[in-house]
Amino acid sequence: MYAILTDDRDLARADVGEVTHFFAESVDGTRREPLAGTVNSVACWGDTAAIRETPDRAAVTADGRRATPETDGHHWGTVCPTDPDYRAGLLERLERVGAAGDVRLTTLGFPGSAFCRCERCERTFAESEYDDRSAWRSAVVTEFVADASDRVAGDLLATLYPDPYPGHLRERAGLAPAALAPHVSEFVVPLCSPGYETTYWVETLARGFADELADLDAELTIQLSAGNVDADRLAGLTRRLEPYAETIVYGTHPGDEDVVRDAIRRVREGEAVATPA
Ligand SMILES: [Zn+2]
Repeated sequence: MYAILTDDRDLARADVGEVTHFFAESVDGTRREPLAGTVNSVACWGDTAAIRETPDRAAVTADGRRATPETDGHHWGTVCPTDPDYRAGLLERLERVGAAGDVRLTTLGFPGSAFCRCERCERTFAESEYDDRSAWRSAVVTEFVADASDRVAGDLLATLYPDPYPGHLRERAGLAPAALAPHVSEFVVPLCSPGYETTYWVETLARGFADELADLDAELTIQLSAGNVDADRLAGLTRRLEPYAETIVYGTHPGDEDVVRDAIRRVREGEAVATPA
């Protein structure tokens, strides 16, 4: 199946693929009216506006480094996943967005293995039933996803960080796919790169996820970017990924619409396409 991801309402309604993912809430803190008939995408703990307003809300490392856009390796601000008020507000928003249909969760979990070591997280971990911090972090995220699935009427999709190496997702973000799978219908893995000058890594990662998720009752969706790439290359890449993923979703700006339509048409019609390196 083919889908697009966009924040443009007209493009979202243009029937480019069978499904549309619509950015209802983005990592910069922008919130849009959810769009019925689409998979509304909601940034969970990635919320730069929230940490600009209340800097103490940002997840933090033991040496005091906060998850802000200015911190190396972070492109947006990330709220601490145990912040109770933020969590409650997020679940309320998910319930509202979820009334419009399916929901995709992005920026799930902790923003890196060194996060979050705020006083509340230290205390909550110490008082928890877990001796292992990584197991505790995974429980925090899994409980949230379970609560979210109770509030969303349609399907729930969870976006994973693109690292299929066994144990890495759990260690990095607190994401444990086997624990999450009962609560979600799909895992979405973004494998985005402007232009796809090389593509071997896309196939490698897609195959890794297909193996890692093979025994779980959840589908795999791979997200590609449609910017700066021609239809032939995008179609070739799509074809190479199809053994591993049920759905390919293309991150699409209005200017890329024709490229995505053409790529989907070429794959559907079995037209000869380039096999990118
Ligand atoms: Zn914390």
